Amino acid sequence: MEEIREIAQKFERYSAHSHITGLGLDENLRARDIGGGLVGQKKAREAAGIIVRLIREGKMAGRGILIAGPPGTGKTAIAVAISKELGKDIPFVQVSASEFYSSEMKKTEALYQTMRKAIGVRIRDTRRVLEGEVVELDYNMVPNPYNPTQKIPESATITLATKSEKRRFSVGSRIAMQFMYAGITKGDVIVIDKETGRVTRLGKSSSAKKFDIGDEDVVEVPDGTVEKDKEFTYVVTLHDLDEARARRSTIFSLFSSESREIDNEIRQAVDEQVKDWIEQGMAELIPGVLFIDETHLMDIELFAFMNRAMESEMAPIIILASNRGFARIRGTDEVSPHGIPLDLLDRLLIITTEPYSREDIRLIIETRAAEMGLLIDESALEKLTEIGASNSLRYAIQLLAPANELAKIRNSSKIEVEDVERAEQLFADVSKSSAYLKEWEEKMLS
Ligand code: ADP
Repeated sequence: MEEIREIAQKFERYSAHSHITGLGLDENLRARDIGGGLVGQKKAREAAGIIVRLIREGKMAGRGILIAGPPGTGKTAIAVAISKELGKDIPFVQVSASEFYSSEMKKTEALYQTMRKAIGVRIRDTRRVLEGEVVELDYNMVPNPYNPTQKIPESATITLATKSEKRRFSVGSRIAMQFMYAGITKGDVIVIDKETGRVTRLGKSSSAKKFDIGDEDVVEVPDGTVEKDKEFTYVVTLHDLDEARARRSTIFSLFSSESREIDNEIRQAVDEQVKDWIEQGMAELIPGVLFIDETHLMDIELFAFMNRAMESEMAPIIILASNRGFARIRGTDEVSPHGIPLDLLDRLLIITTEPYSREDIRLIIETRAAEMGLLIDESALEKLTEIGASNSLRYAIQLLAPANELAKIRNSSKIEVEDVERAEQLFADVSKSSAYLKEWEEKMLS
């Protein structure tokens, strides 16, 4: 278990969708006009609600979801909402299919790693620990046998205090070295794992902290006894475990690079380890959501690989998104709906999203502004709605933040129409920026 606690798990956040907290359905799975941060798109939301139930009942095993609809119609938003409905700690991984093609690894390897990033393992572990505020720490220093000009701690004595007791310990050089490296001083609250000797610093004790320097973590002095059983839970992903094991078992750890291929043997060993933990009641698997945008960029090999991987018991929930109608399946001459092979299409439940009405666009922008804590004038909102309808919703939403800065520069607490207009002049949307470069390229050629 030791290697696990070294992994700090952080799920990426998607700020463009931070307003989304769920699908916004009532108890009969009917979509509210506004709910969970979502507006309109009711049929798709209700279908997604059914899918959430199927997932919970284990009836989506070996199957996937396809969300088909024009750009900016909330395909990503609905996928985020599905993961929110499934519960907290659910990994959500968003990729564009183009990201599978890189020079660093085989495309199927990239897909496999991404799939494993979308599967969480919640690990419960009870450890015997010593926990308390450091009230005394003395090192017994001796010359370093390898470098006599240096001194290293041969041992140390430490006194740990909780609110109700104080205990004094002597520790050997390995733990004493950890104290030194971690810069532990009086007033810190620390945890020492009794079995492994690992030292973790929790922060500065609230009683010892007299000056407010920096933004250091302040923690309470613990209650109860110094020695106790403490339960830890961690959520890590299968990919984290793969990497941790690969790091330990290959010489390449010396030149550790961020992205590299992982041996299948390593993944098998990780799977077995995780199964063991699950059997012993120490862990549970939390399949997350893998959202793959621009599915038409996947080629036949990737599709075949995914088809097989979906059948494995350790597969995430796969949501594909497509904004193409019929397209050629990459790597073949075949044309199929969404550029997806038929055998995979057979396994997909398909949801469609529709272009938003003007009122929906207006409401989405309004909701978004409210969530960002922005005040917006009626005519400015109207202008953004127009931009959302004629350009793209995504662009209209992106203009909110710069428009608000422009309002602040005018000493106004409210976004007015002039701020929106100026933001629109300053910032291009994708179609404007690409059209500009295209025009310029044509000039250069002639
Ligand atoms: P797509 O994935 O179809 O291209 P997105 O989900 O990225 O579209 O939508 C663009 C932006 O609009 C995102 O910021 C998204 O959160 C927001 N959005 C889309 N649909 C809705 C909706 N029905 N309610 C609220 N916000 C939405």
